[in-house]
Amino acid sequence: MIRFAFPSPPPDPRAEAFRAEVRTFLTRELAQRPPIARAQSWNGLDPAFSRKLGQLGWLGLTWPKRYGGHERSALERYVLLEELLAAGAPVSAHWIAERQSGPSLLRYGTEAQKSAILPRIAAGECFFCIGMSEADSGSDLASVRTRATRVEGGWRINGAKLWTTNAQHCHYMILLCRTGPVDPERRHEGLTQFLVDLPTPGVTIRPIRNLAGEHHFNEVVFEDAWLPDDAILGREGDGWNQVTGELAYERSGPERFLSSFALLVELVRMLSAASDDRAQIAVGRLGAQLVTLRRMSRSVAGMLQAGADPALEASVVKDLGALVEQEIPEIARDLLADGPPTEASRKFAEVLAYTALQAPSFSLRGGTREILRGIIARGLGLR
Ligand SMILES: Cc1cc2nc3c(=O)[nH]c(=O)nc-3n(C[C@H](O)[C@H](O)[C@H](O)COP(=O)(O)OP(=O)(O)OC[C@H]3O[C@@H](n4cnc5c(N)ncnc54)[C@H](O)[C@@H]3O)c2cc1C
Repeated sequence: MIRFAFPSPPPDPRAEAFRAEVRTFLTRELAQRPPIARAQSWNGLDPAFSRKLGQLGWLGLTWPKRYGGHERSALERYVLLEELLAAGAPVSAHWIAERQSGPSLLRYGTEAQKSAILPRIAAGECFFCIGMSEADSGSDLASVRTRATRVEGGWRINGAKLWTTNAQHCHYMILLCRTGPVDPERRHEGLTQFLVDLPTPGVTIRPIRNLAGEHHFNEVVFEDAWLPDDAILGREGDGWNQVTGELAYERSGPERFLSSFALLVELVRMLSAASDDRAQIAVGRLGAQLVTLRRMSRSVAGMLQAGADPALEASVVKDLGALVEQEIPEIARDLLADGPPTEASRKFAEVLAYTALQAPSFSLRGGTREILRGIIARGLGLR
């Protein structure tokens, strides 16, 4: 029996009008952005660009106006995201805050937390990082060992988070901690999320360089860091439910199949000069896969908007999306690696090399392939 489906969200005529507006802005704003910078996709960091989006009213698009949002539809937001990514806009500074931290705050935050922070995210002035993974606690997130201990007026935190993207640029981390006893029978209990105002005494951010030599992620060490009582996000002990809700936002967006899109654009540009049947078939196949993924991902956006819990569907989008994203550099190399050296082929090779170095991480970040397939198998009743 099929246990999941990807219904089309109801059409929204305003979304296509908005697309034209976004394209006009991006064509003007990114006219000088070279292909290699576009290839950075949602790793490209430019706080001034994020502020500009905030000033245009394009962050927190679906949030209530009283928290700085604009009460527009999930489809309008979807159109904005895919246009930003397809153009290779530098969106990394605000991406996590707008995608998942803001929605978590809206759902679980106190009135004081919401009114203090959400308008700043919507203005493109407040950035967030994700404090989930630790050494030995990535896939098995319930095994986190960073501990929050109750003390007078607040909590004392000890432990270390790993692979924390952009912590060095962020104003807040949403931190997953163990607050209750470790019970092997009930591993998902006793976890709590906290809002950590960065920088704060007792918290050290140490850089980690990735395969390409870039500094995107970090180790964040907590040594007797003190957090006030009102730093708890949501309910004490409810961290597991909150984190799994957050992951549906993290796994289903268009960034989960457009990470290699700049390379595809360059590939098509190169092939347009002299294309053969093999190249046309390969590019046609990729196009068909991306169109299908886009429909599925838009469907998940509709489910999230409707308040459903599409954890299974989001896992399918991320798993299939990562396969296509990782296939694009392979196909590009296969079709064009041996061309004669020209100015155009040099630029193409630069984008290919960059994307090929990033590609292994596509099926790790946000949940590995094996973990996603485990979720899908469970959703299908196979385990
Ligand atoms: C670019 C990038 C950015 C990241 N940013 C962040 C961030 O901002 N914040 C954050 O908290 N984390 C971040 N992460 C961490 C990411 O979430 C973890 O790398 C991921 O969850 C895997 O955890 P791990 O690295 O500990 O690998 P492990 O969990 O040790 O897994 C190693 C391998 O074993 C496999 N495996 C593990 N358990 C099972 C199982 N039960 N069954 C079958 N196979 C299994 C995995 O699939 C994987 O192939 C980032 C990672 C990357 C690559």
